Formats: sequence, C-alpha cells, structure tokens
Amino acid sequence: MNRRMFIKAVAGGCLLGMVTGAGKLTASPQLRPPGALPETDFLAVCARCGKCQEICPLSCISLLHLDAGLAVGTPKMNPLVSYCDLCMKCTEVCSTGALRSIPKEDVRIGVAHIDNDLCIARRDDDCQTCYRTCPQYGKAIKLERRKYPVIDPDYCTGCGMCEHVCPADPKAVHVLPREEG
Ligand code: SF4
Ligand code: SF4
Ligand code: SF4
Repeated sequence: MNRRMFIKAVAGGCLLGMVTGAGKLTASPQLRPPGALPETDFLAVCARCGKCQEICPLSCISLLHLDAGLAVGTPKMNPLVSYCDLCMKCTEVCSTGALRSIPKEDVRIGVAHIDNDLCIARRDDDCQTCYRTCPQYGKAIKLERRKYPVIDPDYCTGCGMCEHVCPADPKAVHVLPREEG
C-alpha cells in the first residue's frame, strides 16, 4: 500500500469513526497554503497527495499527522519553520483545485496577531523586526506612535515572515487562521 492509499484508508477510517461517533467530528482550523478552498471544501477536495509539500522551495508546508483525524495528510503552514514568499508553485502542482491559482495580492493564508504583553517594542526596548521585514512593508504592519507594531488585517497575507523572525521568546506574533464568513 503506497502513502496515498494508506492516507485515504486512514481518512476513510476517520470518516467511519465520525459516523459512528468514535472519531473526531471536526478538525482544528489550520493555516493552509495559498489559494486554499474554505476549510470544509478543502478537506473534501484535497487528495492528500503531498505534491504541494514536495514542490515548496521554502519547506513551509508539512502534512498533518494521524492525530488530525479527518485532516490527516492535508498540508499546513508552520511559520515557526519557514515563511511563504508567495511563489505560488504549490497552486501550480495541485491537480484537485484544493489550492486555487489566485493573484498574489489576494492571498490570505491567515492573519497575524501581536501579543502586546510579549512584544519587545512594548517593553520600550528597541525592536521593529516584524515591521521592517514584512513583505507588505508599511501596510500590513503599521507603527503606532512610530514605535509599536500594529497589524492591519486588510493587507496581511498571512505569509508568516513576522512570526518567523520575531526575536521574542516566546514569540510575540503568530499567524492564525482567518475566520470564514
Ligand atoms: S506559495 Fe511557494 S513558498 Fe508559499 S507555500 Fe506555496 S510553494 Fe511554498
Ligand atoms: S497538492 Fe493539492 S491535493 Fe495534493 S496535498 Fe496539496 S492541497 Fe492537497
Ligand atoms: S503575516 Fe506578518 S509579515 Fe506576512 S504580511 Fe502579515 S504582518 Fe506582514
């Protein structure tokens, strides 16, 4: 049994478990690669083929493990490991339409949130790392009183660069899935 057959079998088992009440009813919201369908549709359409993970030049895609229930084998983004530079190669190899080809400016992988209690700049130390490295410079992260970084969700692509480079320990900024309307 190859990997794809195995994952399909496991996902089928999860579905059976869901029907019988023995498995997970819902998967936790995940950060999906660019152009992903809404979560419910994504779970139904993604073939768990792993092509998006294989093609990603920045290795920012990993595949969910068995503990993800129905979402096993689907791709997720992990900004702690790497960020996405919107090369859109993953959308090009996705043959199912789970990842759609969309203009880069429309990519909304998630949205960054800053925890002001952890933000170094809020402790009046010198840090504008996220502000300076954000690819949407001056738009997705603005400086309040020229010093304190604040996210503008309208421009944030969810690329993960800010989380990846944040020097605070623990990280003061995280990219979270957007709420689906
Ligand atoms: S757009 Fe490029 S960098 Fe971003 S997840 Fe897809 S393949 Fe990786
Ligand atoms: S390439 Fe598409 S179908 Fe294959 S795992 Fe990635 S999102 Fe799913
Ligand atoms: S995730 Fe962070 S670095 Fe990327 S666009 Fe949003 S605020 Fe900027």
